[in-house]
Amino acid sequence: MEIVLTAERTLMSNYHGALFLGFMSCAPKNTVPSKLFFSLICPSVKVEKGKALIAPYGTRKIEAALVESGFDVAIVPPDRIGKYIKNVKIVGITTNDPLGLGPASTTFAGKYGLVKEESYNAYCFRELLKKIKKKSDAKIVVGGAGAWQLADEKTMEKFGIDVLILGEGEEIAPKIFRRILEGEDLKGIFNGEIVERTPIIRGATIGGLVEIARGCGRGCKFCQPTLQKLRNRPLEDILKEVEINAKINKFVTLHAEDVLRYKADRFRVNEEEVLKLFSLASRICKVGISHFSLASVASAERVVGEISTILGIPSKERPWLAGQTGIESGSAKIVKEHMHGKVLPFKAEEWCDVVEQAFGICSDNNWVPCATLIIGFPGENEEDVLKTVELLDRLKNYKSIIVPLFFVPLSDMKGQKPFTSEDLRPYHWFLLRRCWEHDVKWLRYLAKEYLTKMPMISRIFMLKFIEGAIREGEKRLKELIEISTHQIP
Ligand code: SF4
Repeated sequence: MEIVLTAERTLMSNYHGALFLGFMSCAPKNTVPSKLFFSLICPSVKVEKGKALIAPYGTRKIEAALVESGFDVAIVPPDRIGKYIKNVKIVGITTNDPLGLGPASTTFAGKYGLVKEESYNAYCFRELLKKIKKKSDAKIVVGGAGAWQLADEKTMEKFGIDVLILGEGEEIAPKIFRRILEGEDLKGIFNGEIVERTPIIRGATIGGLVEIARGCGRGCKFCQPTLQKLRNRPLEDILKEVEINAKINKFVTLHAEDVLRYKADRFRVNEEEVLKLFSLASRICKVGISHFSLASVASAERVVGEISTILGIPSKERPWLAGQTGIESGSAKIVKEHMHGKVLPFKAEEWCDVVEQAFGICSDNNWVPCATLIIGFPGENEEDVLKTVELLDRLKNYKSIIVPLFFVPLSDMKGQKPFTSEDLRPYHWFLLRRCWEHDVKWLRYLAKEYLTKMPMISRIFMLKFIEGAIREGEKRLKELIEISTHQIP
């Protein structure tokens, strides 16, 4: 075996099938003692004949591309890697958030975050690189959604990374791996190429993830996928990957930046294609979704209802369907300036009504939005933030989770100032407190239902942990707010 692929430890867990728990990897490392975190919340994937039984979707795609190009490859989880890398020529690593600089980690952990402590993600990446360097002289090739965080010579040298791939890796990875295996002392940063048809994965994925489309096309200035055009995958490729997953996972998570826009005519939901996809996939196994757009929900109420019917939601086993989505701001000015495409086919001025309408449709059809807000856009002032607070008030009776994140300058906004905990003003704290109240109200309720998938001991631990985290969070927030909110009328 000349090539081993792996990923940071936080990516190599199925989180007991409760994939949204994966967000805990963005938390400060000591939120839960590491031993408990890695054994009860984030257990490592199972291994069969030395290979990971399930692996991150991105790693599976690179594996498929390499296998199609004739390479012999094994995906090995990081806790077993020492045994397998002594004589390999290349170790390929998938990373999501290697330095803890993604929006969630930056908000809650690290030097800019609310708790000044390294995130699990950053810790795991560092440890993985240390382990590989100690046990092997293999060339190290890194790629994945978080590769941008490592894109400078000094950082690559610090971690001992030889090659960094930015963007899509399916086309470029086989070329790079071949050059290395042919003896070239390859080093540096390489940009991936846009892939029109991606190879079929060779094994099951974390969370049963199956990509149905890549890219977005709504063009928010702060978002990575704006770099990619929207490409829909052929139905037959998707269904093959659903079948591969069904053998191990028994469920799949259909993934796109907006699952409702599968084969859409720009911003008009293609009802027939979306429903065909959900019906055919759900004949193979249980189906969930990763992301949806609130504008699509508001423009296609009937499709949302039909999907719930196809998936048999609500039922005792599945009381609701959760998906990630973005609100980002309640200020039409901010929406117009930084994300006018997010609202289409509606207008920026209609955004708050669109969001409330979409939350209503989700609630009527037992969908639970896990929505993000972004704090600290360039040009954002107190009035903008208070408009977001007003919008939050309109959403308080809808079962949902709303997560505030600090602005991270990516994509077209690269070079702008990132927002940090030092930039928080009293009106930001006011917004954070409203989010907290909203989430505490719904979290207890949702956790009991969501965590039924976990083994009993892990479930009891998680419920206790959630209660403890709520108590601790309330205490800390109160202390911080006391210092800041006296200026709020
Ligand atoms: S709608 Fe979402 S995925 Fe699409 S560009 Fe905007 S933030 Fe990114």
